[in-house]
Amino acid sequence: MAHLPLSAEQAARHRTRVTLLGTAGGPPWWDGSDRAGISTVVSVGEDHYLIDCGEGWGPQFRKSGLGPTGFQKGLDNLRGVFITHHHSDHMIDYPNLLLLAWHNGSNGLKQPIQVVGPGDRGTLPPIFAEEKREHLPEVFHPGSPTPGLVESTQRLLEAYAMDINDRMRDNAKQDLREIFEFRDIELPPGTGLDPNGDPTPAMEPFEVYRDENIRVTAILVDHRPIFPAFAFRFETPDGAIVVSGDTGVCENLVNISQGADILLHECIDMDWVDGLMGPDSPMPDPNLMQHMLAAHTAIEEVGPQAEKAGVDTLVLTHLVPGNTPVEKWEKAQIGFSGTLVVGEDLMVFGLGAPSGSE
Ligand SMILES: [Zn+2]
Ligand SMILES: [Zn+2]
Repeated sequence: MAHLPLSAEQAARHRTRVTLLGTAGGPPWWDGSDRAGISTVVSVGEDHYLIDCGEGWGPQFRKSGLGPTGFQKGLDNLRGVFITHHHSDHMIDYPNLLLLAWHNGSNGLKQPIQVVGPGDRGTLPPIFAEEKREHLPEVFHPGSPTPGLVESTQRLLEAYAMDINDRMRDNAKQDLREIFEFRDIELPPGTGLDPNGDPTPAMEPFEVYRDENIRVTAILVDHRPIFPAFAFRFETPDGAIVVSGDTGVCENLVNISQGADILLHECIDMDWVDGLMGPDSPMPDPNLMQHMLAAHTAIEEVGPQAEKAGVDTLVLTHLVPGNTPVEKWEKAQIGFSGTLVVGEDLMVFGLGAPSGSE
């Protein structure tokens, strides 16, 4: 059954829903695009699970009407936050979550928000095109150059110690350590950690979170040199939603997407890359072009991936660049026999039978 974008009224009849908060990928501010940075919410009943914290996710969450509205309300029913990988376009508004929760609903929480994300990379990535570099970069923060979620979070909180102490002492705010619980995703034993060699060994999806609503599994996807980079699968009694994260064409992504109702997949417009660094561009760079393509999925590559996985509905999100016209993204239908939707900010999809239907 095709999953098409729903009106707010239609969406309210589905227990399990997906809302696209932001659909642009990449750190640039795209001219002529009003797409917010990449961020998605899976909802089950009143409970919400946020995936990635791209630029503007907070105001988009407010606009989406997902949380209760009103002064100091909003995140009251946020249960979990899942970070796919530590690129800035997925994390830049993560501090907002940490520091603004106090003012936007943390009083209404029934339990701490579970925040789950990649652990430490373990080793620095190689220097790309090292032979061509005039100056080799000096390692930034050599004591811990590739921190995982828990350490990054600790450091962010330390940077905001002034505000945190002020709010707790002057405004009697609750200790943030009671509002959030942070966890690095541990790879299953025997995964064979090889970030600079084979970052996506063949593996099965493994569980990273479960509660009475939902089970979340993860798998390593190919976004080299970023490691770990995860795709997530959200399973509820109403069906399965997969969020690709950032990835090139990758068997593990096909594996975790098997039979999903909705696959939210990243996409890159290679004509744009071609214009920047292709053979006819002012600065041709075939290596860098190959590098971009290996870490992302081109328009014509997405459909066959979704077809192989047998997904019902493919929704494109994390669109790079954010200002490529929709007609062009629609070419992702090639090689895919299911339903294709080009994502727009605040689109909502429903899973399972709507209430009130026979
Ligand atoms: Zn990205
Ligand atoms: Zn990325």
